[in-house]
Amino acid sequence: MHKTAIVYGDQRIPYTVNVDDRRTTRVAIHVEPDGKVIVDAPPGFCPAAIQEAVQKRARWIVSHVEDTKARFAHVHPREYISGEQIIYLGRRYVLKVLPTAEKPKAVRLRGNRLEVETRSGDADDIRSKVRAWYRVKARDYFAKRIVEASQKLPWIDEMPPFRLLEMNKQWGSCSADGQVILNPHLVKAPRDCIDYVVVHELAHLKHHDHGQAFWKLLDTYCPKWQQSKRELDAMVETLMME
Ligand SMILES: [Zn+2]
Repeated sequence: MHKTAIVYGDQRIPYTVNVDDRRTTRVAIHVEPDGKVIVDAPPGFCPAAIQEAVQKRARWIVSHVEDTKARFAHVHPREYISGEQIIYLGRRYVLKVLPTAEKPKAVRLRGNRLEVETRSGDADDIRSKVRAWYRVKARDYFAKRIVEASQKLPWIDEMPPFRLLEMNKQWGSCSADGQVILNPHLVKAPRDCIDYVVVHELAHLKHHDHGQAFWKLLDTYCPKWQQSKRELDAMVETLMME
């Protein structure tokens, strides 16, 4: 394996050559999900011929690299270091990691910063602290909104039981026995979006399906639900990522 690069316009595109024993004639170029360019070449293929093959497809490579980079940047996993963005109730905060030799204080929001004290300083410790903080905030905020929304919904007599559950594709659900389940990642979303999901799940206490009567209920008790849903759909990757 060796690394080299081509130049296209004002861009320098590095690529890695991977000698592939199964190949006999041509090279194959592909772009990895993180934007790395890999060239599979038959054994003994001369570097100048590889370079020429890559150069010929430079325009295709550049556009693919840009696409994948844009996608990858969007869902780039967090590193849990100072300066990273933290989203909470639709607002952006900055993570501040504070190393300490003492017993770490509880995670707290101060101004536009989320301050996390840590003794070890490693990403796993900070991740678990941020995650626990989100869960506490989610439990408190969702409970409050369920109580407030329930008071306005005539089919609800008393606050339904509710619990948090991390789900990959869903913001909430409502079990057949009337338990409301909400995704803790939802606490990152703007308040209107949270209200939409809360009212959506509470509406399932009256209609368990997504039939016409269900959407009519939402139109009445959460008139801007379509806008909130669109907003949530657009943010799903950012909000569900840890
Ligand atoms: Zn539903």
